[in-house]
Amino acid sequence: MTVDTPKTGPDTVSPQDSLWFEQALLDKGWARSVRIRLRNGLIDSIERGVAAAPGDQVHATGLPGLANLHSHAFQRGMAGLAEVRGPSQDSFWTWRETMYRFVDRLRPDEVSAIAAMAFAEMLEGGFTRVAEFHYLHHDIDGRPYADPGEMADAIAAAADQTGIGLTLLPVFYAHSGFGGAPPVEAQRRFVNDLDGFQRLLQDSSRAISSLPDAVIGVAPHSLRAVTADELRAVCGMTDGPIHIHIAEQVREVEDCLAWSGARPVDLLFDTVEVDRRWCLIHATHTSPVELRRMAASGAVAGLCPITEANLGDGVFPAADYLAAGGAWGVGSDSNVSISAGQELRMLEYSQRLVHRSRNVMADPEGGSSGGAMVRAALAGGAQATGTDIVVGLSPGQVADIIALAAPDGCSPPLEDRALDHWIFVAADRPVEAVWRRGRQVVRDGRHIARQSIVRRYAETLSRVLDDA
Ligand code: ZN
Repeated sequence: MTVDTPKTGPDTVSPQDSLWFEQALLDKGWARSVRIRLRNGLIDSIERGVAAAPGDQVHATGLPGLANLHSHAFQRGMAGLAEVRGPSQDSFWTWRETMYRFVDRLRPDEVSAIAAMAFAEMLEGGFTRVAEFHYLHHDIDGRPYADPGEMADAIAAAADQTGIGLTLLPVFYAHSGFGGAPPVEAQRRFVNDLDGFQRLLQDSSRAISSLPDAVIGVAPHSLRAVTADELRAVCGMTDGPIHIHIAEQVREVEDCLAWSGARPVDLLFDTVEVDRRWCLIHATHTSPVELRRMAASGAVAGLCPITEANLGDGVFPAADYLAAGGAWGVGSDSNVSISAGQELRMLEYSQRLVHRSRNVMADPEGGSSGGAMVRAALAGGAQATGTDIVVGLSPGQVADIIALAAPDGCSPPLEDRALDHWIFVAADRPVEAVWRRGRQVVRDGRHIARQSIVRRYAETLSRVLDDA
């Protein structure tokens, strides 16, 4: 038996703060028969090779929670509403029209109710932190609220209610196309000038100030929506993470080439210094040279495989990016369905379909796909959300922990095989418990406040959709 020494004072934990796992992913690798004591939101101590004792909460497999590096929480409310064929060929652009009509109706308390549903499902799906790419800022008529941070307050309230860790990324959005094209009417609730955005950023910082470990960064929306000067100015407003939608659509790449003579990733790197604080969302349509520039910069590629499949975006060239040593993580983006395991499943399966090959995302021979993907997504997700990089549990670290259920009536598959099982095999609620900052927020696969969150969500949605 080995005991990692607690880093903080005397042990005052109550029995329910003691977890026991048949196996757990620690900072030094997998360990068996592991007791983890929690105190004041942190992991207080870890014992290996010990039997479960009375008072321990017993689970099969423990590992750190993942960060969801890209979400538009309000879009959870339109999940399933854009799956009907229109008069012309459906695409991201026709989906966006549906989104614009939906967003037109939302008020702050409705955004909060929908975000709470999304955040609760993220926790149930194995995500313990979310980077909210937050672009719905203004009132229905397009004017700023009396308090410009009103919508940020709505997001912060949902994070507080559900317990999820929040990295808030207020979005700077100013134009409808390359070259500073004026915004269109449907974008009126998103747009700011630089002075307005500075105020919004200050009010957004205030909105998250009561959340214990919230992080704030910025998100220039895309190269379509921001000029080069604005991009440089917005990046100068933060020391935190910087996220951007970069190359989701072929048309976006073509428009960028036509206007600037460069592809989007190249244009970004030629305009600002891109470093480890950056996360490039949907680097779907990138050249080999662009992939190498991204990998060398230390930035994180923000992949959203379920949404990218749902919107028909295309497939990220992950194999080439991995060969270049690039960092990456996953996000639930449109929140059409929410699960860390299923994002990773879709990522690997899309690569298999493209390459007509298997275990594309795995490390060299003998490495498991699940093991490699979970470690990469833990590291990339933490980096992109501006938090400590954690790829295994250790004393002193914030107690963001998920427990995977064992298959019915069986012992859990061992070590990385448990991650393979979670990602490729498990169907119904494989994440059976979640602790966020030491507090249990998911029990038996359900968020502890699910009932009230669902009730408020259902009322909200019927009201919003009735207004249509
Ligand atoms: Zn997005």
